[in-house]
Amino acid sequence: MGTSKQESKHMAKPEMPFCSRKWTNREKLVTVTFSIIHILCIFAPFQFTWNAFWVAVALYVISGLFGITISYHRNLSHRSFNLPKWLEYLFAYCGTHAFQGDPIDWVSTHRCHHQNADTERDPHSPTQGFWFSYLIWFLDSITLTNKVCPEYFIDRKDTKRGVFTLVLKVLCVLRWLSLMSFGEAWHNNHHAFEYSARIGIEWWQLDLGWYVIWFLQTIGVATDVKQPSESHKQRLAMDKPNEGVSKSLK
Ligand SMILES: [Zn+2]
Ligand SMILES: [Zn+2]
Repeated sequence: MGTSKQESKHMAKPEMPFCSRKWTNREKLVTVTFSIIHILCIFAPFQFTWNAFWVAVALYVISGLFGITISYHRNLSHRSFNLPKWLEYLFAYCGTHAFQGDPIDWVSTHRCHHQNADTERDPHSPTQGFWFSYLIWFLDSITLTNKVCPEYFIDRKDTKRGVFTLVLKVLCVLRWLSLMSFGEAWHNNHHAFEYSARIGIEWWQLDLGWYVIWFLQTIGVATDVKQPSESHKQRLAMDKPNEGVSKSLK
C-alpha cells in the first residue's frame, strides 16, 4: 500500500478520460489513421487474391516476428541476446513498419509495463478496463506519457481526473494465439523470466520468435542468448505454485 501511495505521488493526474477531453493533434492523427485502416479491412474479402494474401503474411512476419517480437521486445527491451549492430538495426527497422511507434518509445513503454505490471502505473493496465488495456492506452498519449515519463507533467496544474471503472480481472490467452503472436502469448512465462530469449518454455509451447533466435545462435550470429536455468524454474515453481508458469515446472 505504501508503495502504491508513493507511486501515486509521482504521477501527475491526467486531465480527463480520453473519450471526454479534447484530443491533441497527434491523438487525432493516430485515431483517424487507426480507424481508417480498420474500416478498409472490411473491404479486404471483396478484393481477395492469393498473391495479396501471401504478401500480407510476409509483411506480418517481417514487421511482427522480426521487427516487434525479436527486435523491439526480446532484443531491445529485455536484452535477451546480442546481435551484430547491422542486424540489430535491420530488425529494428522492420519493427518501425508495424505501426507500433519507434524503438525508443516502444522499449520505454514496455519496460514501464514490466516494472508496474497490473498496477495503476502499468501503461496498459487491465485495472482500467478492457477497452483501455486493449486499445485506448495506445491512443491516449497524455495518460501514456504521464505513466512512462511523469516528469514531463511535473509543472502542469492538475485538473479533474477521469477514472475508468470497468475492471477486467482475467485476460484469457488462447493457445492458438501463441502462433499468431510468434510465441509472445505465453505471457506468464515471460513475466516470470523476462530476461529469457525463449518464452515458450515447454517443448509443446509454440514460440516462433525463439526458433529464429535459436537458429541465429546456432549459426553464430546471436550471442549471449539468455534462458532460465533449471534452478530458477524450480525456485519459482516452489515460491509461486499457483501462478501457472508451467505445470511441469512444479
Ligand atoms: Zn506483460
Ligand atoms: Zn516483455
